[in-house]
Amino acid sequence: MTAPTPLLEVRDLAKRYGSAWALHPTSLQIAQGEFVCIVGASGCGKSTLLSLLMGIAASDGGSIYLAGQRIDGIPPEARDMAMVFQSHALFPHMSVRRNLTFGLRMKNVPAGEQQRRIDQIVTLCQLHGYVERMPSQLSGGQQQRVALARALVMQAAVTLYDEPLSNLDPKLRQSLRDDIARLHRSLGRAALFVTHDATEAMVMADRIIVMQSGRIVESGTPESLYRAPRHRVTAELFGAGNLIEVALERGAAVLPGGRLVPLAGMAPEGRTRARALALLPHESIRLTLNDEGDATIVERQFIGALVQYRVALHHLELRAIANGDSAPLSPGTRVDVRFLQPLHLVEDGAPDVPHVADMESAR
Ligand code: ADP
Ligand code: MG
Repeated sequence: MTAPTPLLEVRDLAKRYGSAWALHPTSLQIAQGEFVCIVGASGCGKSTLLSLLMGIAASDGGSIYLAGQRIDGIPPEARDMAMVFQSHALFPHMSVRRNLTFGLRMKNVPAGEQQRRIDQIVTLCQLHGYVERMPSQLSGGQQQRVALARALVMQAAVTLYDEPLSNLDPKLRQSLRDDIARLHRSLGRAALFVTHDATEAMVMADRIIVMQSGRIVESGTPESLYRAPRHRVTAELFGAGNLIEVALERGAAVLPGGRLVPLAGMAPEGRTRARALALLPHESIRLTLNDEGDATIVERQFIGALVQYRVALHHLELRAIANGDSAPLSPGTRVDVRFLQPLHLVEDGAPDVPHVADMESAR
């Protein structure tokens, strides 16, 4: 099977401020209609990457291709892209309708087509009843909905989102994130959506790109990054489990305290390291009541569908998750700890070769 041609292709795109790299040479691809999320801590270069793609900041090397055409030399308004910022920045002196038509008029979209698109986007973004209002007559959430509509109405080949939900309350945030992903899927338009919230990324994305210190660290489907992160930063962002330093011995991991646990796959190739970092998913730890058990419950937290435990196993303290309706284990109780899956090893440091976030990483 031949790989599809990417809609957006970025090769070695880079940005420096003085001697510091805000973005090391970075390569990525996005397919037609693909919804890609970028996650990473504050300051890791997410906004820098989007600004370079949109053309509102100048790069220090690299190239950008959209639908096969090189676009890094052309101004933002000539790129077939739209961007939504963290603060919605509507034109305050224009009605919602005029905010929505502004970009279309700039692009000389014919009046009939403008009307058709506005009607469609007003329905999709549930803005009926608001189109004649001024931004000051809308709540924060409604304003952000207009900002989303203003970008989506452009029907750009790629829409860039720079943490557009960060300033909203949790409930609104959740409903808008569902709306945005749904809108893109119904319009078949690609998106690059930046967030520092890994859960938001998992819910929305076809594929997630993880960034750290101006570099792409790895990329993959939400499931693959959650279950089998390659790097520590990914495991920490997704919070999928306990990260434990283990000793490696003949293809197995030795936990602090001496317990031997099988490894998922082989120990990392070409390395005869004695120690490694292992991921132990919370849900892969099974606790059973046993007065002779070698572990002790430290804390139990009931959170509805789930119960979260802290359990002391020799020198380790592990977090484990059980079903909310399982028989409760009180703090102080002795238990057996079983691991339902083999341990997954993760790399402790930053990667030594640049990761190319291509479309293959979603398979
Ligand atoms: P993020 O969006 O992931 O929080 P940014 O892309 O905004 O990160 O910033 C990446 C790095 O570049 C940070 O270290 C930041 O301080 C630096 N940076 C961003 N913009 C500028 C600027 N205009 N001048 C100097 N340094 C900048
Ligand atoms: Mg930012």
